[in-house]
Amino acid sequence: MKKQTTYIHGGISHDEATGSVNVPIHHTTTYKQDKVGVHKGYEYSRTGNPTRAALEQLIADMEGGVRGFAFASGSAGTHTIFSLFSKGDHVIVGDDVYGGTYRLINKVLKRLGLTFTVVDTSVANDVKKAIRPETKALFLETPTNPLLKITDIKTVAALVKEREILTIVDNTFATPHHQQPLHLGADIVLHSASKYLGGHSDVVAGLVTTTSETVADDLAFLQNAIGGVLGPMDSWLVQRGIKTLGIRMDAHERNAKQIVDYLVNHELIEKVYYPGLIDHPGHEIAKEQMTGFGGMVSFELKEGLSGKAFVESLELITLAESLGAVESLIEIPALMTHGSITPEDRLKTGIKDELVRLSVGIEDIDDLIEDLNRGFDQL
Ligand SMILES: *Cc1c(COP(=O)(O)O)cnc(C)c1O
Repeated sequence: MKKQTTYIHGGISHDEATGSVNVPIHHTTTYKQDKVGVHKGYEYSRTGNPTRAALEQLIADMEGGVRGFAFASGSAGTHTIFSLFSKGDHVIVGDDVYGGTYRLINKVLKRLGLTFTVVDTSVANDVKKAIRPETKALFLETPTNPLLKITDIKTVAALVKEREILTIVDNTFATPHHQQPLHLGADIVLHSASKYLGGHSDVVAGLVTTTSETVADDLAFLQNAIGGVLGPMDSWLVQRGIKTLGIRMDAHERNAKQIVDYLVNHELIEKVYYPGLIDHPGHEIAKEQMTGFGGMVSFELKEGLSGKAFVESLELITLAESLGAVESLIEIPALMTHGSITPEDRLKTGIKDELVRLSVGIEDIDDLIEDLNRGFDQL
């Protein structure tokens, strides 16, 4: 089945019992047993729910995993993945990961005894140098948030695989429409489905899938034991969003490319970050491992210009955290999504105060450019 068809017919996409072309929303906590222990595969909805199961099978089909898992948020999924590890285990983590992941690592997981080394995973040799005898995983994002750095998944996954270290990729930015990390050698893929997969800024959710049956068994155990599961209504909403993932991602990318063309020539812009740009350091790898460059664009205003004044003067593009929805969203990472990172660490990774992150929506491009012009007129 081709990608576009999988979004619509993958997983469990209809109801055998009634012929309904959509999966029913099973609002139930428990399931009647015919005799003790004799049931239809479901006992209690934290452990399993048919609406959630449909979505879980769908993400596995989309990414090429053996089994999928749906969580109450991307962060709940991240936490459950890290619960595979024990006190003293070491994880190599990308230096430009989602702010909430950074907070989870530093404020929660370190306290529980996991150890971390932060590296620029786009430099394979730095990943290699960070490996220790107790290293259990490599956790990375590509493209990263907000600087859109690219890691060569195939290279780093092969590098750590020799040592039986798991490669975990947060694929939120690219989505399986543009990148399938499991096909490139990664072991686990994570999504904040609150972003492109849901696609309409109306549901918070997390999805995880893996190529390993052993890891899948462990994740199933942890999902049930920890309990951060996605509810049936939200599972249904994410599945509904995914049906249009392909046409949305294509439209996001089309608009993003036009906005990048507009921004690179603008006199008030210092730098534009987009993996589709030929002079982007990760461009060649992105071209190789992705089928599209996505809808996220970051740009730095000329030094001293106020990003705050720029974003506050926009009328159409919404000033908000989050990304990946049909409507364009804009934010200042240093003040908003990445505000929990210390100023020193922010500057180390290159997140300046002038940096603006734009999640390009699928509105008419003329209206988006007109709004950006309004912002520049204010500066
Ligand atoms: C939003 C986001 C997360 C966290 O997901 P939530 O659903 O908000 O908990 C993780 N990784 C990336 C790249 C994100 O953008």
